Amino acid sequence: MTAFVHDFADGDKDQKDLLGGKGANLAEMTNLGLPVPPGFIIDTEACRAYLSVGTVPAGLAEEIGVHLAALEQRMGKRLGDPDDPLLVAVRSGAKFSMPGMMETVLNVGLNDDSVHGLAASSGDERFAWDSYRRLLQMFGSTVLGIDSAVFGKVLDGLKADRGAHVDTDLTTADLRELVAAFQELVEQHSGQPFPQDPREQLDRAVAAVFDSWNTDRARLYRRQDRIPDDLGTAVTVIAMVFGNCGAGSGTGVAFTRDPATGAHGVYGDYLENAQGEDVVAGIRNTLPLADLERLDPTSYAELLRIMAVLEEHYRDMCDIEFTIERGKLWMLQTRVGKRTPEAAFRIARTLVEQGVIDADEALQRVTGAQLAQLMFPRFDAAGVHDLLTTGMGASPGAAVGKAVFDSATAVAWAARGEDVVLVRKETNPDDLHGMVAAAGILTSHGGKTSHAAVVARGMGRTCVCGAEALDVDASARQFTVRDGRTVHEGDLISVDGTTGEVFLGAVEVSPSLIVRHFEGELPADADNLVAAVSEAMTRADAARRMRVRANADTAEDAARARRFGAEGIGLCRTEHMFLGDRRQLVEDLIVAESTAGQQAALEALLPLQRQDFTEILEAMDGFPVTIRLIDPPLHEFLPNLTELSVKVALAESRGAVDEHDRVLLDHVRRLHEQNPMLGLRGVRLGILIPGLFEMQARAILEAAADRRDAGGDPQPEIMIPLVASVREFEMVQRHILTVAEEVTAERGEVGYRLGTMIELPRAAVLADRIARSAEFFSFGTNDLTQMTWGFSRDDVEASFFATYLDNGIFDVSPFESLDTLGVGALVKIGTERGRATRPDLHVGVCGEHGGDPASIHFFAEVGLDYVSCSPYRVPVARLEAGRAALGE
Ligand code: ADP
Ligand code: MG
Ligand code: MG
Repeated sequence: MTAFVHDFADGDKDQKDLLGGKGANLAEMTNLGLPVPPGFIIDTEACRAYLSVGTVPAGLAEEIGVHLAALEQRMGKRLGDPDDPLLVAVRSGAKFSMPGMMETVLNVGLNDDSVHGLAASSGDERFAWDSYRRLLQMFGSTVLGIDSAVFGKVLDGLKADRGAHVDTDLTTADLRELVAAFQELVEQHSGQPFPQDPREQLDRAVAAVFDSWNTDRARLYRRQDRIPDDLGTAVTVIAMVFGNCGAGSGTGVAFTRDPATGAHGVYGDYLENAQGEDVVAGIRNTLPLADLERLDPTSYAELLRIMAVLEEHYRDMCDIEFTIERGKLWMLQTRVGKRTPEAAFRIARTLVEQGVIDADEALQRVTGAQLAQLMFPRFDAAGVHDLLTTGMGASPGAAVGKAVFDSATAVAWAARGEDVVLVRKETNPDDLHGMVAAAGILTSHGGKTSHAAVVARGMGRTCVCGAEALDVDASARQFTVRDGRTVHEGDLISVDGTTGEVFLGAVEVSPSLIVRHFEGELPADADNLVAAVSEAMTRADAARRMRVRANADTAEDAARARRFGAEGIGLCRTEHMFLGDRRQLVEDLIVAESTAGQQAALEALLPLQRQDFTEILEAMDGFPVTIRLIDPPLHEFLPNLTELSVKVALAESRGAVDEHDRVLLDHVRRLHEQNPMLGLRGVRLGILIPGLFEMQARAILEAAADRRDAGGDPQPEIMIPLVASVREFEMVQRHILTVAEEVTAERGEVGYRLGTMIELPRAAVLADRIARSAEFFSFGTNDLTQMTWGFSRDDVEASFFATYLDNGIFDVSPFESLDTLGVGALVKIGTERGRATRPDLHVGVCGEHGGDPASIHFFAEVGLDYVSCSPYRVPVARLEAGRAALGE
């Protein structure tokens, strides 16, 4: 028989899966010899069993009985004993902390008899009745599901009636009256009297804590924080200690160091004569923890000693809950404290300076996601901001603009050069063009997986969602805040996608210090946050095995990427090089009736392309530059089919057809595709119109020759897109080899490599064949994801990803973070099979996943040589590649 119940002495901090974070850390503190009230933990397995069938699993009640008896024996008291009762707290606590999401019931074991016993044994009647009314309140709301406001109202009414400002002003007689009133409320709302049997109270509280795993708010919280739904919560049953027995008692919360910087110091709040959440609930003004030194020097010294023990043991900042009962200190909770991204870097550095951890461990304690947060522009901290409300930060950044309430207005205003923030109740696929046009998006409904949030993140647009305090009225073109203020169309607002804050007016935006540092504008010692980041980067660079390159199509981007630490370009797209003035040349190429006509167009393009490549090779001198030959379908360079048809038809009706337009229309028709994503593009173009690829290859090699002659160190890599078969690759390869021979004859030898993008499932599966001819692979994981899932990204993200996320079909968009099970398997297979043929095959990834932390760890595991990502993600990739190497 498996045991569901565990004594504190039998657990430790590494058993969070089974005992929950709270239980595991209570066990750890117990075993450290710290003053923790005795108790036991009902594990998450019991919870999962309970939730799957809806009843307590067989044997659990007996097990609880055994552990309860042991607890009673140890305490020398029986649960709910009428003369001198043992009382317990029944506390929730899952593997991951879900603050305030689940329930806890204190003072279990009190009833109409034992309340007298408690009064007698403690010699404090007021305290006994205060504890009882608290039990009724918590049991009523948590176990019986009565709205806690029902109790609050009666309590407030009584306080008003007695002229009591705070709860501690109520007398024993008042509290007795309150207990009677609460008992009535319980009976009235639940249809049954408050259960007097202590064991029944305990069992029902345990079941209620299990049930609280599945409340709406708990589910919502888990989805936002990507906590799996099937973990369940543990339940801790722990002897009560009392901070509510007058002055000399109290309860508090504290951090073991400054939660912002990690500096030593005393940080926390203390409330005298209080129990449980009182200290954080704002019912009375708390005292700074340092004041405890004056009130109770012995407990204070003991607390500082314990904090030092915890620090020494966890080697990190911890947060704690404690209670002092008549001068005796008790520890009720600890965990490694949550922290902001800034604090994470600062604390890690401080701990290294103080010799608590080494640089490797410091690197493990910060994340690329945290670094990314620090790289967004921020609203200036200085200055007065007029906060309207705080919603959920769904997509980071700081956006300022005029409020608009529909997408058409967003598009129209943006087109005339205005910054707008699109405000909606929630968005749907029809809002897409408005979201593209807006600087920021604000919704009053929906969480972090809502349509607005998913799409905004995908586009890198600042977004705050679920700002519930806003009443958005799109038809009146305004929103109203709960406090009555109204914002009309055209009023300036500022939204912070990191903190979720929404401000009235334009808040000054300042560039991130960290970006200024990466740009070379701020030295590492400019500020201790900058220093902390810089030290983490140095350590990561030294540790990592994978290289980091950037996706950059211009010399300017390449130069920035290099400043950010890129070691080459993993993807230089060439299609934008055919736009603008050059579009005409592509059109000429397509409509040319003769080879001579085609040749002329290509010859006109050659010097322009050569110039493009020379600049990029120069910006990345000494590092590899992977240039992808033209990929998109040709019709993208031609006029729109419908527009041109209309133009020609109109001209025809006037009897004045432009011959060029007519010919062009024929070509547009000829090249029109139902599904361009799967049509004539990539290598297929290179096979049908070899001249285009040949021209590009020549431009690359001549640019390299120019750079070499100028004393540079060009390292071009020519990459063929969308290859599915080694045959395709080899056909294009032959053409390129011929060009290379010609260039060599004219200009002397230039070094280059020829490889392919792996972005079709077939290419991954047949990588062993492709590697016979290709010298390198670069996984194009954007297309590989599209082709593996059969998703057209532009269509599916806006239309149904929110639903997929809500239903758990995936936890995160496969375009944001690599689908390691499916697409990742193809990356693994492709790498293994490619290297089976060619052991020194150089393999990288150039999809957006190259900048995503979780994906980077996967790529490191599979053994890729490098990741390539957008210039701004390069530092994130460096940091995560370093962390991945330490974890290997
Ligand atoms: P949460 O997860 O919301 O912090 P807790 O289980 O920690 O909930 O408990 C809620 C409050 O009750 C906290 O303030 C905690 O310190 C207090 N508390 C928990 N156990 C006891 C106990 N045995 N005696 C006195 N107070 C307790
Ligand atoms: Mg707590
Ligand atoms: Mg592609």
